[in-house]
Amino acid sequence: MIDLHCHSHFSDGQLSPSDLLQLAIQNDVTMLALTDHDTVDGISPLIEANKEQKNPIQIIPGIELSVRWKKYDLHILGLNINPSSVTLQALIKKQQQSRNERAVAIAACMAQLGIDDALEKAKKIAGHEHIGRPHFAEVLVQAGKVPNIQAAFERYLRAGKPAYVPTPWISLEEAITETIAAGGDAVIAHPNKYKLTRTKLFELGLAFKMAGGTGVEVISGDMNPTQIQSLVTMANQYNLLASTGSDFHGEKMSRVRLGQQRALPIHCKPIWEKWSMSNTTRNI
Ligand code: AMP
Ligand code: MN
Ligand code: MN
Ligand code: MN
Repeated sequence: MIDLHCHSHFSDGQLSPSDLLQLAIQNDVTMLALTDHDTVDGISPLIEANKEQKNPIQIIPGIELSVRWKKYDLHILGLNINPSSVTLQALIKKQQQSRNERAVAIAACMAQLGIDDALEKAKKIAGHEHIGRPHFAEVLVQAGKVPNIQAAFERYLRAGKPAYVPTPWISLEEAITETIAAGGDAVIAHPNKYKLTRTKLFELGLAFKMAGGTGVEVISGDMNPTQIQSLVTMANQYNLLASTGSDFHGEKMSRVRLGQQRALPIHCKPIWEKWSMSNTTRNI
């Protein structure tokens, strides 16, 4: 199995990179991309853990960049990147600042809702400073405001809800350009999650291709056959390569397990065929 999208506890995943690797090996994953939100901190521990294996797997360094495109918050994967790229590091710093400022603003919204010290609570849950909305969702659950994470997003954290704070994420063009500058390929993550009409989805595909994007996640997490078919059509229309990933965050948070997403349909050109062994092993 090939899984080019998952998260560790360096962003909003539950497992450490080395536990993620053990699970990948257990699930017969032969190629794994770690794609934490706006950070590459987990990549070097993952590569180190992989070196200690009797049969190392192929590790693809990745990142999931938060992007603002028109009125939408999108996610663009940077795959097969050089995590030490100086320009990428600068971009990450900028994203981190936006994330920090948003976290302060979300905590202020939560104070209005009667939850004190939400930022400190979120940091404690995360175990680091890269605070994401799932950490605030857990704060809401622990405060007894909602029964689960899903409800926390539905009632408080998603766009238009009381604890949603618009964030000045980087543009689509910047995400693509900087991914390419870091030696990688840009991929539209889980296109079915943005509630786009078919027209808007294809508009995104065109804008992405024009800006130098390489691929689209034809398979991500759990999707139905109709959604998959429209992504196959879009990929072929704009000559985009196909990617596949579980978007695994941990057993508790994800329905699809690591490496257990559906198979890539035929008539797709897999993105990994573009990467030579020498290139992907440069960091191992
Ligand atoms: P952030 O990057 O901090 O805005 O957080 C985005 C993350 O929140 C996503 O990567 C998902 O892990 C999680 N998320 C977004 N929407 C939902 C939802 N409706 N239910 C559960 N988790 C969600
Ligand atoms: Mn996430
Ligand atoms: Mn995402
Ligand atoms: Mn993800």
